[in-house]
Amino acid sequence: MVMFSKHFKSVATHIKKKFFSCGQFRLFTGQSKKRTYFTGGYASQAMSGRSKKTFRFSDYDCIGFDLDNTVARYKVGAMMEMEYEILAHYMVRKGYSEKHLLKPVEQDFLLKGLIVDNDNGNILKIADDGKILVATHGTKILSDEKIQEYYPNFHWEPTDLFAKDPLHTWNGPYSEKMRTLLDYFDVVASLVYARAVDSIDEEEGKPKTNYTIWPDLLEALQQMFHRDHFQQEKGIYFSKMKSNPDKYYYKNSDNLINWFKLLKENNKLLFLITGAYVDFAALTASTTLGPNWRDYFDIVVTYAKKPGFFTQGRDFIGVDGFKETGVISLEQLQIGGIYTHGNWDVLHKFLSIHSRNPNPKFVYIGDNLIQDIYTPSVYSHCDTVAVCEELQAEGLSGHDSKHPDTHFLKSSVWGSYFHHKNYSTNWYQILKDHSNFCFPSLEYISKFPLEYKHKCMF
Ligand SMILES: [Mg+2]
Repeated sequence: MVMFSKHFKSVATHIKKKFFSCGQFRLFTGQSKKRTYFTGGYASQAMSGRSKKTFRFSDYDCIGFDLDNTVARYKVGAMMEMEYEILAHYMVRKGYSEKHLLKPVEQDFLLKGLIVDNDNGNILKIADDGKILVATHGTKILSDEKIQEYYPNFHWEPTDLFAKDPLHTWNGPYSEKMRTLLDYFDVVASLVYARAVDSIDEEEGKPKTNYTIWPDLLEALQQMFHRDHFQQEKGIYFSKMKSNPDKYYYKNSDNLINWFKLLKENNKLLFLITGAYVDFAALTASTTLGPNWRDYFDIVVTYAKKPGFFTQGRDFIGVDGFKETGVISLEQLQIGGIYTHGNWDVLHKFLSIHSRNPNPKFVYIGDNLIQDIYTPSVYSHCDTVAVCEELQAEGLSGHDSKHPDTHFLKSSVWGSYFHHKNYSTNWYQILKDHSNFCFPSLEYISKFPLEYKHKCMF
């Protein structure tokens, strides 16, 4: 779920202390990462020091899940169409031109992981070292010469810093300059933004030197996902999700439900960490997993505010129905409980106490490469597994290309999510350095026995 709050005050200090005490500060300051080049299959060896030849679920004692786009699979095409309509109409009410904003969704312009340059009105796709691989001004593709006019030598300080440490630009001054669009909740914002730029350029008769569109679009996103709107019946997004869930969610198959049961029968502790507030999380989980969804998880954490969940020490808060109650200590956490906020250190202690293994092994599975993969990998020493639907949409790594929403996930404007010519994208690099394994959906993985040794692709 999209989160826009300020997560990372004093994170650097906190992490330096944490890593110095563990003798692993090197992980935070930057690994000895060799540039990798995409060679048609997957780039050469990972330099992160992880041993990642095979992966199997049976090796883990505590298995954590993200909810949206991980446990719960969305009909992303339908959802993105609906999100586009909400955002575009909001922007028109703000004064942007109907002519551009209210055109049908151009599926081919959409790709997960694009970066908005707020000041220049540009959208970027970058390589693992920050090099700008593809760029548009509004919806218009920029030539290499034009890219160099904006970004000498194809580099820009904010994206260079982002490529080195994605959390560096999450908050603070760089977050004012650039925005990453990381998952299917905000991917369509790139098209809304680009069309808003087109409309301004048309009014001005030429490109401007500075744009102030992003604050309006951020307001539109915040309104769309405002947590209070779910219960207050305000806004459009939640009311559409509630009134027509079959349009936007896939129900998990019996096979996948049985996979969760199998994990429980094998004494795995299962936990759910989601950014969604408890009400929307309950709708999503009950629609996709069924009314007994709570039975599959030993603890559920909602409104977790990832990635800060993995780096900060926020208290767990109890809930009574959909209402938050008070602070809950480690000793008060219960198996079967559901909470909001919280933090990784306390959750780790809680699960360690309840695991049958005195030194339990943890893995966390999610789709958001910053919130679910990079941050737990670097800041919490947790193994991670990435759910990446683009693997299937692009037909990579032996997966068929029969993704039902391929047209929304693949783009001939931007090219592959994973590479561009000989370059690996920054997203490919995060998958390679920070995930132990990557697959297109839990449905796919549930077809294999827990002991199955999956071959790691990186
Ligand atoms: Mg997710």
